[in-house]
This record gives sequence, structure tokens and C-alpha cells, in this order.
Amino acid sequence: MKCSRCKKDAIYFQRQSGQYYCGEHFNSYFVKKFMRGIREDKLIKKDEKIAVAVSGGKDSLTLAFLLKKLQARYPFEMEAIIVDEGISRYRHHTLNAAKNQLEKLGIDYHIETFKDNFGKTLDSFVENNKENACSTCGVLRRYILNKKARELSCTKLATGHNLDDEDQSVIMNLIRGDVIRFSRGQNYYKKISDKFVERIKPLRYFLEKEIVIFALNNKLTFDSSECPYALYAMRGEVGKFLDRMEEVRPTTKYSLLSGYDKILPALNQCFIPESIGVCEICGEPTMDGTCMRCKILEK
Ligand code: SF4
Repeated sequence: MKCSRCKKDAIYFQRQSGQYYCGEHFNSYFVKKFMRGIREDKLIKKDEKIAVAVSGGKDSLTLAFLLKKLQARYPFEMEAIIVDEGISRYRHHTLNAAKNQLEKLGIDYHIETFKDNFGKTLDSFVENNKENACSTCGVLRRYILNKKARELSCTKLATGHNLDDEDQSVIMNLIRGDVIRFSRGQNYYKKISDKFVERIKPLRYFLEKEIVIFALNNKLTFDSSECPYALYAMRGEVGKFLDRMEEVRPTTKYSLLSGYDKILPALNQCFIPESIGVCEICGEPTMDGTCMRCKILEK
């Protein structure tokens, strides 16, 4: 098929708009949408310092690439944080991809490991309980990212979550009946404690498949190997369900996120307190007496 704009060969058909895109016009659509999102949602202000969380996969490297482009037009500082959880036969591939691409882009980075921060790798933490790998990994990684971003005096922490990730989280929190997580919005961290660095997700309105196409189209050297613990995660099953729904009802993924965003302010008011306390062990913010990180380390 031909591009709807210039009649060159198309590389992508966007079902929701009925448009065909060649490589050049796909790039221009993607970059414009990204820049518009940053501007309209006021995600980055002039002269801020942004920490970008980079894993070495397509999402975080696309985000770093686009933020670098934005930096050329708009003055702000940026540094990357790479977390090495210590996952054998997986992490070193993504780590290398992250370092290579960040060096090509000229973005300074810091590598933080579970071993240095907590004394053990993720593999050791979950040796006898692999089903808990993702929840342990998520809690400890978020802790490191927040702490490092704060140490670097960053005003925001940017992550590469895409539309598919966001939808999956909405459904997963509902399935678990986790009303607090379900009611957290983008402003949650800013609202709840000044010890949290505000988080931004500039790719949350982009489909995962469009990010893959963008990354390939721009020859980003990302790594696509899958974490060995992913098979234990509920996220995979929920992702397949959403893919099937999108197949039979195109725009399902957009509608779900947009509906969720509409009810979020009300959920926020009902279930999220104005402020929270600090952990009695480490002094980091928490809703309970002891934070999740310390509970994991105690166990
Ligand atoms: Fe961590 Fe789970 Fe992601 Fe693996 S799949 S990196 S264990 S959250």
C-alpha cells in the first residue's frame, strides 16, 4: 500500500485513523504527537532537570531519543538512570543496549544495582518464589529510581510507559481489587509527599506497536529479549486479552485509557489521602508504618 500523504510505500497502517504512513510521515506524525503531549500536558518546563529511567528496551530508548530532540529546541537538563536488578541471562543484554544508545545520544547515565543498594540480586531475592519476581522487582526498582533522581536534584522522573502498559495496569489493579493503586494518577507522587520526585510518562498515549515501528525506523539499538520472570506475571495475560479486544474492536485501548483518565480525579478525591507518613525504618514515604521495600528486605 502507499502512504496516504505522499504515495511512497507505506510501512504502517493506523487502524483508528485509516491512514497509511511511509517511514518519513510516520516519524513526523510520531514526533509531532510527542511534542504536542509535552506542551499540552505541561510535562517539562524550561530549565528543569529530568531523570529518564532507561532499561535498554524500545520504550525507554525511544523516550530518551525524543527527549534529546526536545532538548535541542528547549533548554532543560537530563540524565539517565539505569537499574540493574541482577537477572541472569537477561539484564546484561539490555544493559549493553542502554549504554550503547545513550552514548550515541550523548546522554550521561548512572547505573544503580540491586546488589549495591540491597545486598542481593533479584535472582537471589526470588530464588524460592519466582511468582513474586515482578512485584519485588517493581517495588525495589521504583525505590532506586526515586532515590537516585532525588540525589541528582531532578525535578521530574520520566518513564517509558506506553498505552498498552497503562491499560494493563488499569485492568490488573481492578482484578486485584487494589483500589488505592487504581486511584493513583500521574500527579499522585507529587501530591502525596515531597520526598517523591514527580513522575511523567510522555509515551502513555502511544501504542506499543507504534513505538516498535518508531524505534526500528530510527535505527535505535534497543534490546528485545524477554525477562525470564515475565511468564509469571499477570501483565502478559491481561496484555493478550487487550490485544484480542483491540483486534475485534479497534480503539479499545485508547477508549479504556481515556475513560480511566476521566474518572481519575473523582477516584483520587475518594481514595487518596492528602499526605502520607514515613517508614519507621528507612524514613521513605509510605501509607503503612513500614514501607514495601523494608518489608521485602526484612523477609
Ligand atoms: Fe522485573 Fe518482572 Fe519486568 Fe522482569 S518482567 S524486569 S522481574 S518487572
